[in-house]
Amino acid sequence: MLILAPIFAACVTTAGAATSDFDALFTGRTLRYDYNHAGTATEEHIAPDRFRLEGEWPGSRTQLVDETNMGKYMFLVVDPGTNRTIYSRGFASIYGEWETTGEAKESWRVLHESQRFPEPRMPVQVVLKKRAPDGTFRELHSTTVDPASRFVDRSAVAPAGDVFTVHEGAHPSRAVDLLLVGEGYTAEQGDKFRADVQRLVDEFFRWEPYRSRKSAFNVRALHVPSAEAGISNPRQGVWRDSPLGLSFNAFDSDRYVLTYANAALREAAALAPYDALVLVFNDRKYGGGGIFNLWCTTAADSSQADYLFVHEFGHSFAGLADEYYTSQVSYEDFNPPGYEPWEPNVTALLDPENIKWKDLVEAGTKLPTPWDQAAYDEASYAYQAKRQKLRAEGASEEVMEALFDEVKSITKPMLEGQDHFGRVGAFEGAGYQAKGLFRPEVDCIMFTRNPTVYCKVCTRAIERVIDLYAR
Ligand SMILES: [Zn+2]
Repeated sequence: MLILAPIFAACVTTAGAATSDFDALFTGRTLRYDYNHAGTATEEHIAPDRFRLEGEWPGSRTQLVDETNMGKYMFLVVDPGTNRTIYSRGFASIYGEWETTGEAKESWRVLHESQRFPEPRMPVQVVLKKRAPDGTFRELHSTTVDPASRFVDRSAVAPAGDVFTVHEGAHPSRAVDLLLVGEGYTAEQGDKFRADVQRLVDEFFRWEPYRSRKSAFNVRALHVPSAEAGISNPRQGVWRDSPLGLSFNAFDSDRYVLTYANAALREAAALAPYDALVLVFNDRKYGGGGIFNLWCTTAADSSQADYLFVHEFGHSFAGLADEYYTSQVSYEDFNPPGYEPWEPNVTALLDPENIKWKDLVEAGTKLPTPWDQAAYDEASYAYQAKRQKLRAEGASEEVMEALFDEVKSITKPMLEGQDHFGRVGAFEGAGYQAKGLFRPEVDCIMFTRNPTVYCKVCTRAIERVIDLYAR
């Protein structure tokens, strides 16, 4: 067990000019609000669970209010004395995705969620807002809490596993604190977890903008021992007793790996300071997932593990949308037509003159920007059909990977040969839709597995979020 108290103790007084504001408003510890998010496609409710004290506050002490305008939801902490928002963050959630699936039209579901914020010195109001398709927010829930009251659980966090440091860049209040949590690693597989984490983190820092901003990151890892190796894979009849509940086939999508065991995960993660969680699961099968300001998941032993990590982290850390549209997904109403998505890297191009990444578009570039979508679609849909057939037949990962390489050998030269390759415009086909949504460049790691870069718009979006933690 490693708790990072000495680092915190040494540095608490060294944050920026607004530290005095922070110190006046907050105690320096972390408070967690756990609640249930329930509903159907047409109604939505929040039912409080509990408030829970965690360790030191690892987030920024100067950027308390989130002005990035991202996320389907917004969490706010309000001082009722002044009605001033003293802390806020945008986020997305499993619930927010689930309510767009067909299942939500037929049945109810309850999902457990948490919001973490610096512990206030005074009673506060906590508010959850939801974004309407037109971009405006409406209040979904509000409650008050007196942090000094008996309604806050201040018991010690149980040591669910071992924490170790992988990389130290700056004091937690001026860094992005990444916590990689292992799932499906037995007690005997601690060395494998360490090796997997090191490999993934080395790869992560080969990518921009992480490489240039390495000193703005701290990376720690947590091994929560699992009774069995691997995670559940329901479509193949594989069931594993793993402590954090990660499983393939979320929303009945074979490669989508999520957990619904939020309470267990948050309690385990509370052992270390973190701003962003990455759940690394001990499995060979291709799969992952990422939800903005929640966490991402990645298969440690897939030959595509490096891609999975940076792609899914793009979702969970920077709110990036999927730019692809030829893969099958379970969402039915993810982006309602006629509205601008909130994600920074997809646009409905309702007002081409004022496209949200306008400053990155070279003068004279046509919007929409021409590309050979018909040729790409033919190759990509043929690949998707093969992929689905092989998956249904229970093909091995080696066979699936050979297919990945095959489609890459066709689409990579095809996309690199486009006139506007490497330049920013508005290319039709993005966000699970072949028509009506546009992506910033012909190719990006949020579009295909081909490139080794995020496009310029995605890169800038990531940098903006790094700054939200590191300043
Ligand atoms: Zn992109």
